[in-house]
Amino acid sequence: MLDMQHETFLRFPEGRTKAFTLSYDDGVVADKRLLKILDSYGVKCTFNLNSGVFPDRGAHNRMSEEESFDLFANCRHEIALHGHRHLYLTKVSSVQVAQEVVANRQYLESKYNRLVCGMAYAYGATNDCICKLLAELGVHYARTTVSTGEFSLPADFLRWNPTCHHTDKNLHEIASRFVHSSPLDERKARESYLFYVWGHSYEFDDNNNWHVITDLLDEVGGRNDVWYATNGEIYDYVAAYRALQWGVEDQLVYNPSCLTLWVERDKKVYRLPAGETVRFDI
Ligand SMILES: [Zn+2]
Repeated sequence: MLDMQHETFLRFPEGRTKAFTLSYDDGVVADKRLLKILDSYGVKCTFNLNSGVFPDRGAHNRMSEEESFDLFANCRHEIALHGHRHLYLTKVSSVQVAQEVVANRQYLESKYNRLVCGMAYAYGATNDCICKLLAELGVHYARTTVSTGEFSLPADFLRWNPTCHHTDKNLHEIASRFVHSSPLDERKARESYLFYVWGHSYEFDDNNNWHVITDLLDEVGGRNDVWYATNGEIYDYVAAYRALQWGVEDQLVYNPSCLTLWVERDKKVYRLPAGETVRFDI
C-alpha cells in the first residue's frame, strides 16, 4: 500500500475550489462607503486599523475613534493591526516594533472586545527579524504590498503577498481568470484558488473611480464556487488544514481543530469533521 500515490488538495468550506478576500488600510472615512458596497455584494474584507493617530485626520481623512468604532464594532468584517502609529517597521528598533504591535493589539482588543491577531504592514515594510518578533507577539498573519498576480495560498502567513492592488493594470484580466478558470480543469495542479485584493478606500475618492470596486465585485461576487471570507477566516481555515495529522499509509487523517475541513482526493471531495478521524475510500 505504501507505493500508492494519492494527492490531496485543500478545498474551502462546502468543498468550494476558490476564495476571495479583501484588505483595506488606515481606517478612513471612505471605508463607510466601501463597507456598504461590500455588504451589498456579500463579500468580506479585513480593515487594518491604527490606534495612535486618530487626532491626525491627515490628507486621507482618517475616522475619529468614535466613527471607527461605530462602523466596525458590529460589522461582518474583520479588524486587524496596522501599527499603533503607522510607523515604518524596518526603520525603527525592535522595541519600537514591539510597541507598535502590542499597543495596537491592546487598543483594538479592549475597545472591540475580541482577539486581534491579523495585520497589514504599514508601507508593506518587513524583514526576517520583524516576522520572527511578530510571531512571538501572537500575530498570526501579516500582509505585504508585494503583488503576485496569482491565486496561491501563502507558504508563510507572516509574509502574505496579495494577488494585487485594486489599481493593478491587469485587475480585470486577473478577475476574469479567477472566474473563468478552475482547479478542477487541471490534471495535476488542482490547488484551490485564493484571489486577494488590497488598497485604501480613499483612493476611490481621490481618483473618482468607485466603479473599480463595483466592476470587480460584479465580476467576482455572488458565485457558488467562491468562499467570501475575511483574511482571518482564511488564515484559521488554512492553519487548521496544515495541522491535519496523517497516517503513514495516507489513508487516515485526523482533524484536531474545531473547524470542519474539506479536501479533495482522486477527484472526490471529503468532509473532515472537527475532532474526527476520517478514512479515505481509496
Ligand atoms: Zn497604511
